[in-house]
Amino acid sequence: MKPTYSIIAPIYNEEESLPELYRRVKEVMDRTGEPWELVLVDDGSQDKSTELIRELARQDERVRPVIFARNFGHQIAVTAGMDYSRGDAVVIIDADLQDPPEVILDLIAKWREGYEVVYAVRAEREGETWFKKTTAAMFYRLIYNITDIKIPLDTGDFRLMDRSVVKVMNQMREHHRFLRGMSSWVGFRQTGVKYKRAARYAGETKYPLRKMLKLALTAITGFSYFPLQLATYIGFISAGLSILAIPVVIILRLVGDNAFTGQATTLIAVLFLGGVQLISLGILGEYIGRIYDETKGRPLYIVREAPEEVVEKVHN
Ligand code: UDP
Ligand code: MG
Repeated sequence: MKPTYSIIAPIYNEEESLPELYRRVKEVMDRTGEPWELVLVDDGSQDKSTELIRELARQDERVRPVIFARNFGHQIAVTAGMDYSRGDAVVIIDADLQDPPEVILDLIAKWREGYEVVYAVRAEREGETWFKKTTAAMFYRLIYNITDIKIPLDTGDFRLMDRSVVKVMNQMREHHRFLRGMSSWVGFRQTGVKYKRAARYAGETKYPLRKMLKLALTAITGFSYFPLQLATYIGFISAGLSILAIPVVIILRLVGDNAFTGQATTLIAVLFLGGVQLISLGILGEYIGRIYDETKGRPLYIVREAPEEVVEKVHN
């Protein structure tokens, strides 16, 4: 039977949280009285998660295991979950129970009112470090200010999407993915539901600073040309300043002042502009690298095991 709800959880070394995740999702989803499925995407776990997922799938046919050949990253794991989901409404949730499954019922209520994307807004965050909260808050505000789409502040990937939205997103096969941006970009009727983000149930965060920075870069380059235009702005400013400096220097020389002489001045100017140029080149490189990744046309992920039946076959 085709389920009404698909719950997608990306799993990367979550052996301690998995049984509890299944238990709580089951408890909550059974309350809806409608058919549901739990798509567990194993993103190349090295612990017992893979075996646990297989075991859950054996016990309960509502669990759909998608097992990757290696670690492809959180956003790709969720993408695979969306490809293999069959429900009329699809919910993305973290496996570490930071997104309480009980909130799914609130998301469903809004979906029933006719909203096609219902995102969960973090009103409060528990058990996260000062550093994580500050960098996350800065990240959301930076993205909000420099990208062309208005991604709601303080929302993660925890959200419900109608099948019509999932269909569109499944057609968007970009390699560097920022799913919350993509799900804002598609439009449709969207609304938010506030919730209290809990502490991790067990284990450590799988998002070290390095991965957070990578996601931030993906978000910025994926939804904004601003960094590319930065070189133009700085170019105009420095060209303008130099033109203004010419008469100033001439006048100072005529009145016999020795301003702007000596090697240090030259050296500072050269190093400054050299630095600006290298940074601009680096920014260009970020975009070109991404173009290169798209032209290779490689699949987004490789599965070792996955269910046969899918709603529609998407070109990976
Ligand atoms: N995750 C994943 N692949 C990765 C990193 C993380 O599938 O390479 C999953 C992880 O198992 C969890 C979710 O993505 O279900 C969010 O990760 P985490 O809780 O570590 O991030 P945080 O909440 O600390 O930002
Ligand atoms: Mg987490």
